[in-house]
Amino acid sequence: MRIVLVGPPGAGKGTQATRLAEKLSIPHISTGDLFRANISRQTDLGKLAKSYMDAGNLVPDEVTIAMAKDRMEQPDAEAGFLLDGFPRNVSQAEALDELLETEGITLDAVLDLEAPEAEVVKRIAGRRVCRKDSSHVFHVTYSPPAKEGVCDVCGGELYQRDDDSEETVRTRLEVYHTQTEPIIDYYKAQGLVVTIGAMGPVDEVTGRALEALKQDQ
Ligand code: ADP
Ligand code: AMP
Repeated sequence: MRIVLVGPPGAGKGTQATRLAEKLSIPHISTGDLFRANISRQTDLGKLAKSYMDAGNLVPDEVTIAMAKDRMEQPDAEAGFLLDGFPRNVSQAEALDELLETEGITLDAVLDLEAPEAEVVKRIAGRRVCRKDSSHVFHVTYSPPAKEGVCDVCGGELYQRDDDSEETVRTRLEVYHTQTEPIIDYYKAQGLVVTIGAMGPVDEVTGRALEALKQDQ
């Protein structure tokens, strides 16, 4: 399957993507995680991306699209993928459509995670991610690690993302509403959008997602 996950920052896209990717045997491709990996390796791309990310803005389309394309062209993504955080504006959605068309493939669904703003703010405020791999995500109260400050998955150090500060979160939510939300209408016109509520326990949300995608649980 080829799926795009969309929803405000903190809705639980990464959390759900990890579970859905495993269940559906497709790679989880998060442009945010790819940028953070570049930042830890101190690559030129990482240095460029960091200034935009720390301010809560989108990284320019040209580099983002090139990075996403490169990842989607890896052999493990041949049979499908779950895109998390890409596309994030209509230009990126158009670029993705062009890329898929060149390959002669199509998206199966765009899964839209809905959550009230007050909840996403709480989720972001308590989010802690692993320094070794930012797809290992915890929450200080909702899903704490067994040992404080240590990743359950790989033992890496847990930290609060620089862009999870209260001030940056306000910008990110605004960027979501003005630049990312329009892609929902773009994909509705293609009949691809399935919307689910992202409130409630993680497993329940995963169940709702699989049902919406018409996949056995
Ligand atoms: P996104 O990728 O959409 O920004 P994340 O998956 O990183 O969001 O989740 C944001 C925070 O909310 C994380 O700390 C995560 O542990 C927590 N979280 C995710 N889903 C739920 C849920 N259903 N209930 C409570 N907390 C959740
Ligand atoms: P995320 O991990 O999805 O919350 O993304 C963190 C940050 O990475 C965003 O606030 C952006 O600065 C940047 N980013 C991630 N994906 C994209 C994208 N598709 N386009 C532009 N910037 C992105």
